[in-house]
Amino acid sequence: MKISRVGVVGAGTMGRGIAQALVRHGYTAVLYDSEPAAFESARAKISAGLGREVAKGACSEAEKQAAESRLNAARELSNLAASDFIIEAVPENFDVKAGVFRSLDPICGAETIFASNTSSISITRLARLTRRPQLMAGMHFFNPVPAMKLVEVVAGLETAEAAVECVEKLAVSLGKTPIRVKDSPGFVSNRLLMPMINEAVYTLMEGVSDAKGVDGVMKLGMNHPMGPLELADLIGLDVCLETMRVLYQGFSDSKYRPCPLLERMVNAGRLGRKTGRGFYEYPKPAA
Ligand code: NAD
Repeated sequence: MKISRVGVVGAGTMGRGIAQALVRHGYTAVLYDSEPAAFESARAKISAGLGREVAKGACSEAEKQAAESRLNAARELSNLAASDFIIEAVPENFDVKAGVFRSLDPICGAETIFASNTSSISITRLARLTRRPQLMAGMHFFNPVPAMKLVEVVAGLETAEAAVECVEKLAVSLGKTPIRVKDSPGFVSNRLLMPMINEAVYTLMEGVSDAKGVDGVMKLGMNHPMGPLELADLIGLDVCLETMRVLYQGFSDSKYRPCPLLERMVNAGRLGRKTGRGFYEYPKPAA
């Protein structure tokens, strides 16, 4: 199946990164967000991201402008009807994602492949809500999307081999390396990463060290490029908490219990970089 027009639902951290990767690699991206102001903010960030590529010599000014011209706003979800492929990147909450797929299913063509960028939620469970479970897969990008090579490709119980191959091909065409995994809570990436972040928050909560100390141990001792708390701020503490909840419920195992400090930070709206405050503070860049 030829893919040229890709609908992206959710213009937050991941949706705009995915849209940037798509337009940079020749696809037309149609970006929809339920917050009307989100598109303009995403467009500005995508333009800045492409600008950084020009500055690095990775693309020319003409290529940047051509990429920008392939980015389109959708005012309604129904504007995604003509998409060959849909990538959903709305918050990590089953009901919110279910609402998106239930609405898209009747308006998109029968051949359109649906992919979720979920970090942990069951693809099989989401696919069941549509009439196309064989055309639904996980396409899990990493943050920041333009820079990160991995795409975890998740096959649900009913996903057809042809659909998985299509997702893999799309990932390769975006310069990514797909790794295929089975549908299991957190897949491979977040089953390993999130318990480490959660445990880092426990060490902070218990006063074993401060944030810089916890991160310093992992950077200097384990050669991690970022400490777990810095990484949590980059990912979004709400995303980390929701992912821990999916692991906790999915495995019914107390070892995945979200750290109370993580819950408190999310309740306080301290979500990390996106709100300017998480385990660290992020002053707003000068306008
Ligand atoms: P985000 O909060 O930055 O963005 C989510 C966007 O979705 C917001 O702009 C919001 O307005 C919009 N939205 C909410 N409900 C909507 C709806 N019903 N229809 C359309 N738009 C809606 O979140 P994010 O960090 O981009 O995460 C999105 C998904 O990507 C989640 O499933 C998350 O687990 C996954 N993910 C996140 C990361 C990360 O590092 N942040 C990495 C990999 C995967």
